[in-house]
Amino acid sequence: MGELRFNENLCLNCTTFDCLKKCKFVKLNGAKGNLEMLKIARGEDSTVLRTCITCYACEEYCEKGNHPFYLISEKREEKGIDIVPRPILKQWINLGEPVGRYKVGELREKTLSFGFVPEFLQWVKGKLFEDVMPSYVFGQEFFCNVAYLHFGRTSVIKQRLPIVMDNFSKLGIKEVICLHDECYGAFTSLAPAFGIEVPFKPIHYYEYILKRLEQLKDKIRPLNIKVAYQRPCSSRLSPPMHYLAREIFTSIGVELVDRVYQDENALCCGEVVRLQGLYDLAEELQRENIEDIVKSGAEYCVFNCPYCYAALGHKLIKKGVKPIHIIELCRMALGEEV
Ligand code: SF4
Ligand code: SF4
Repeated sequence: MGELRFNENLCLNCTTFDCLKKCKFVKLNGAKGNLEMLKIARGEDSTVLRTCITCYACEEYCEKGNHPFYLISEKREEKGIDIVPRPILKQWINLGEPVGRYKVGELREKTLSFGFVPEFLQWVKGKLFEDVMPSYVFGQEFFCNVAYLHFGRTSVIKQRLPIVMDNFSKLGIKEVICLHDECYGAFTSLAPAFGIEVPFKPIHYYEYILKRLEQLKDKIRPLNIKVAYQRPCSSRLSPPMHYLAREIFTSIGVELVDRVYQDENALCCGEVVRLQGLYDLAEELQRENIEDIVKSGAEYCVFNCPYCYAALGHKLIKKGVKPIHIIELCRMALGEEV
């Protein structure tokens, strides 16, 4: 347990080198980019270990499933390359430490996981969730810890994630509906990559919502609105789930408008870059996203990740675009007040 399953031979025989070729941030050209992932795999130093902004996208770009971003994170820590100022790192590591202040509802074998995101306590209600609520878990004890990839600290994840798995097991939970992509990515991508056993069936909340909307189709009032969608970095760990957002929109009568930063070409919301002290880049990423959304002609911008929502929401309101979480949007289509 704990060793990353990264196959250097896949890189040796790689013809596309998409991981770094498609990266918007490390700025390597042609042949040099092709060699860099091999250097990292062999434990050599690389500029990528200093310039990667942790957008997770290369996990999606590598079609061979070879986990280039997990490798970058591992090697950064091994080489003592800090990407976040030490005091901030320490503060965040303490924040995720289990302290016994978790909350659980009336648990059943299938449960919702709020992870460690308090916003879900306010959003998750109504008809959409009535067949599973009040079965839920919330708190550091159920926090997947994948966020520490943004801090270049896989050791924290490897130490805490097996304990989180045990916490679910001890409660007799067999199916976990993850309300954040990061948790789903932890259980379906990161844990297997590091040989950590997952003792339950992870379900992405988009799968759950789609099923519920089908069951509730007689109650849906098509919204007839145009929306833009802000894809979060964490959804790069489970690309097929990302595309379910389109099916959700169709089932509630919502038109998804085209934007430049869509699907594989999504652009980071900038928040993690701010944590890394790259304030100018954070501003630039936020400005580019907002201009793109405004230009798309959307009335609403739909968020999947609460942190992207917090980063961009208030700025979008100033530009006349209403921010909304996808759960709130679905509840609106069911005639509920949000
Ligand atoms: S990580 Fe994937 S895309 Fe990158 S060089 Fe290796 S096999 Fe190719
Ligand atoms: S995580 Fe993002 S910034 Fe880092 S190498 Fe991969 S694609 Fe580039």
